[in-house]
Amino acid sequence: ALAGFEHTIARGRELLESRTFWNVNSTAQGGGVAEMLRSLIGYTRGSGCDALWVTITGDSEFFRITKRLHNRLHGHAGDGGLLGEAERAAYERCCEDNAELMAARIRPADAVLLHDPQTAGMIPRLLETGVPVMWRAHVGIDPPNELAREAWRFLIPYVERANAYVFSQPAYLWEGLDPAKMMVIPPSIDVFSPKNHAMAFTSVIAVLRAAGLAADRHRDHPRAVFERLDGTVGRVKSKARLIEEEQLWLGVPLLAQVSRWDRLKDPLGVLAAFVEHVRSEDEPHLLLAGPDVRAVADDPEGEEVFAEVEAAWSELPRRVRRRVHLALLPMEDSDENAVIVNALQRRADVVAQKSLAEGFGLTVAEAMWKGRPVVASGIGGIREQIEDGRTGFLVDPDDLRAFGERVSRLLGDPHAAERMGAAAQTRVRDLFLGPRHLGQYVELLDSVLGPPV
Ligand code: UDP
Repeated sequence: ALAGFEHTIARGRELLESRTFWNVNSTAQGGGVAEMLRSLIGYTRGSGCDALWVTITGDSEFFRITKRLHNRLHGHAGDGGLLGEAERAAYERCCEDNAELMAARIRPADAVLLHDPQTAGMIPRLLETGVPVMWRAHVGIDPPNELAREAWRFLIPYVERANAYVFSQPAYLWEGLDPAKMMVIPPSIDVFSPKNHAMAFTSVIAVLRAAGLAADRHRDHPRAVFERLDGTVGRVKSKARLIEEEQLWLGVPLLAQVSRWDRLKDPLGVLAAFVEHVRSEDEPHLLLAGPDVRAVADDPEGEEVFAEVEAAWSELPRRVRRRVHLALLPMEDSDENAVIVNALQRRADVVAQKSLAEGFGLTVAEAMWKGRPVVASGIGGIREQIEDGRTGFLVDPDDLRAFGERVSRLLGDPHAAERMGAAAQTRVRDLFLGPRHLGQYVELLDSVLGPPV
């Protein structure tokens, strides 16, 4: 494995000598793409190559349209709005403005990798600069429905022109795209990042207390320190915004889901399943955590979805409501946010990912890496990660009873839960870590750049 990785680095250096490898997406924080870029760009630069990460800007109309595309690519109607000529014109205007800014900075030998639907419209203008342009979809659906096809039709005129496209699974390739230009690259997690690095038991507690996620009488938390992505030492200083009746005690059995506030993550479904179908003597609690809704620029629906969850919470009977906690995690400092998520995932006895659609679902791999048993929907990329009954549980997203039953079973049998968590960790180690991913990026660059110039 080490020799393979050394080869990756050597070949990567050769390919990227005197070039810049540009990566473009639409947000610097919140969501899986930003999470992966932060680490992979770091490793690429660390190995002596020049990689740059740029985020595009857009107005609210643009992000409304791209959120619509995102939802439809997942097979869901989203806001139900149109994807017609007016939307295309607005989409292209914003993409072309962003492409124009980039075109001025690109040099002829560079290479560009664009991520997700927000950037696809930049392909034609960037190709005019003469550099290879690759496009990666982090979203995918298998089998597709008519809504997904509608989004494909909107995007294909741009995407088909790219030199190569990347999907997370072979089955995600769109009808109408050339299979010869496709490469399959599953996502990965970075085990050295603040999100996933090992944490001592005492650090987990200190971080949770400092962030307000564990009951505590202290004001200062000198032990809530962690290593940042750049290697320096950070300290958790910000508190989560919590909607709860009383603080969460550390000893209480906990089911947790950490996700953006998005209907496709089905926070209301988790809540309903917990309330109606999690049966356990020892009164487990539920924590739904996500980014502070004021912070994620490319997601106009976050605030609305959180408001729905909060409304559902306030309507719960008091004896149940006191066992449900909603947390908005601080986003100003991405390393601090990451270590809080890390501690939360480690704190949870069972982790949920009850999504209705999921291209991959990094949160699943993150929890598995931490040895947690995950109960998740058996859809999309989650099926690549969890083998039902062995490295987690898969349930039909509509079957709230089955979801509650699996959660209850794990809460009631800590030994089985631990065994499942250990198997989950091994699976992530074998399939979903950074070196494999970087190796595939080198292959991708190899395919569009050919022998070094
Ligand atoms: N995440 C985070 N803070 C939050 C909520 C989510 O850092 O408050 C991270 C989460 O840990 C994961 C990523 O955002 O790394 C979500 O990726 P995933 O593939 O699960 O879903 P996406 O948001 O891309 O649909």
